[in-house]
This record gives sequence, C-alpha cells and structure tokens, in this order.
Amino acid sequence: MKIYVRSDWTSKGYGQSVSAVLTTKGCSWQKKEDGGCTMCGYFKDSRDVSENEIIAQFDDVISQVSDLSEPVVLKVYTSGSFFDDRDMPANARKHIVSSVASADNVLEFIAESRPEYVSSKKLEGFKEGLLGKTGYVALGLESANNTVLEKCINKGFTFKDYKKAAESIKKTGLKVKTYILQKPMFLTESESIQDVFSTIDAVEKITDSISINPVAVHSKTPLEQLWKRGEYRPPWLSSVAETFNYAVKKFDCTNLGIVGAGTQRGPHNCRACDKKIIAALSEGFEKQKKVDLDKIKCQCADYYKELLECEHLFFDASPRTVFE
Ligand code: SF4
Ligand SMILES: [Zn+2]
Repeated sequence: MKIYVRSDWTSKGYGQSVSAVLTTKGCSWQKKEDGGCTMCGYFKDSRDVSENEIIAQFDDVISQVSDLSEPVVLKVYTSGSFFDDRDMPANARKHIVSSVASADNVLEFIAESRPEYVSSKKLEGFKEGLLGKTGYVALGLESANNTVLEKCINKGFTFKDYKKAAESIKKTGLKVKTYILQKPMFLTESESIQDVFSTIDAVEKITDSISINPVAVHSKTPLEQLWKRGEYRPPWLSSVAETFNYAVKKFDCTNLGIVGAGTQRGPHNCRACDKKIIAALSEGFEKQKKVDLDKIKCQCADYYKELLECEHLFFDASPRTVFE
C-alpha cells in the first residue's frame, strides 16, 4: 500500500487529498489474453492478496488520514477496479465504504472502476454505505474516440459503455469523475491535443469533474517498447498547458494527474523550461486559471510551434486514418 498526501481541490475549497494505492489482485482486463491497456504497468504492483490483507491495508490508510489536521478528499486506487469482485472482494469493499462513512475528516470519497463492473446493485450499496458523504466513481475513459480506444490504448470498452456507466452512476445520486489520457501511442503531438479537446467536449455534459492525465511511460508495457526504440515521445508540457486551458473554461475544477513531469518518461519540454512550466501548471491548478505560456520565454517555443505545424508531414497517410 502506498499513500500520497497533496494539496488539492475539495468541495470546501483548496485543501488536501489523500491518494491511497492498495495492493490487490490486479486488473481483470489486464489478465485477459488480448487484454491490458498499452500504457498501463499497474500489474507490477498487484499480487495474490487476501480479503483480510486488503482490509488491513485500508485500516492503515484510515488511521493515517485521521492523524491529518484538516478534512480531505480520499481517493482509493487498486491495481484494477474497485467494483470488480475479483480485484476487490465484496466484503473488503463493504468494509472500506463503512470505514469512510465513519471517518470524520473524509469529506469526499473517490473510487475508480472500469464501466463493466458498475452495476446498479453495487452503486446502490456504495451510495447507501457512504451515509450521506459525497461519493465519486472515477471512470478511466481516456478518449471519447473509439478508434483511439481500440487501436492506441486497447481499452476493451467503447465510449457508449462509458456513457451508460456514467448515467447509472448519476442516477444513483453519485458523482462521475472522468480520466482523460493525453497522448496515447500512435498519435502525433497535435492529434493528441485534439483528442483531449474532443474528449472534453464529449464528456462535458456527462461528467461532474475531469482529470487530464498526460502519459508517463511505465516499464514493461507496449508503450515502453516504442519509447525505447525512439518511436514515442511523452507529451510536451506546453501541450498539457493547452489542454488544461481548454478544460478550465468548461469545468469548475479540472484536475491534472501529472506523473514524472520534466523527466524523459514523463511530460517534458526542453529541460531549460520544464521547471518553470511545471510551476505555472501548479499555479493554474491551484487558482483554476489559464496558464500563460507566453510569459515563459524559452528557446524551444518556436520549435514546439513548428513541430505542431509540420509533424504530419512525416507520415504517409494524410489526414491520418485514425481520425477519418
Ligand atoms: S489502465 Fe486500468 S483498465 Fe487498463 S489495464 Fe490498467 S488498470 Fe486495467
Ligand atoms: Zn524550453
């Protein structure tokens, strides 16, 4: 189990969140013969744990949360789905929900799941178990484009599946959070920006909040193989600023799930300006205001602009078939 405390937005303003990553049996989609998302290396954190071990891990989380001085948003991640009984046994799930309900300084609770495990029965149990606390179900949609979902991510579900799950979450009186992946494999930099823009447009009226998650290259994944061959580059931080600026106009709170910023495996620019852009993004997130990149003068700005304009020339198919 890993636990991260950070400054974050809550329903009571800018405060704190706790992200707890529980060790579980792992994602059932990843275990299927042709399954597993191309960028996901969470299977490395999973092992054959018992129900009681998961309960003990969560008791540890709650005890650490109760030591914090202010109320928090609690986010619980497994290496799979919170509503998948193989990954999160029903009794462990029930224990987690009732512990959250009686934890005084947990304001809101967020649990993540693939759409296929989101049944009305499980949602009702979740909602009732929280005894009036705000509950979010986070769906890792990644992209609203079914071609991107299938060819670039191997997501194993479609936009329609996401929409159906989101509708039943809202019908139960729970809230929906949508994760959007920035720059899956096979997309150019500009395509990946456009993909996030169109995904934001597609989910705007469905979801309560979003998180833009720029790719960080996990080890032992198909994406890592491309990256090692020099055929994939994580998104530019400038591109993350573009998508954040687009989202911030539309949502009360736009989350940024940035991992490995400024490193080769994570979103980065030219090194010289990485720290400045990371600081500008943090400030943009804290104030929920657009990031003004023009204020950050760097040698790479013209190169980045030209890249967006010219990169499609390096591919034979124009326009790229993925968006036809
Ligand atoms: S991203 Fe989510 S659904 Fe995809 S393999 Fe990883 S844990 Fe499973
Ligand atoms: Zn730069």
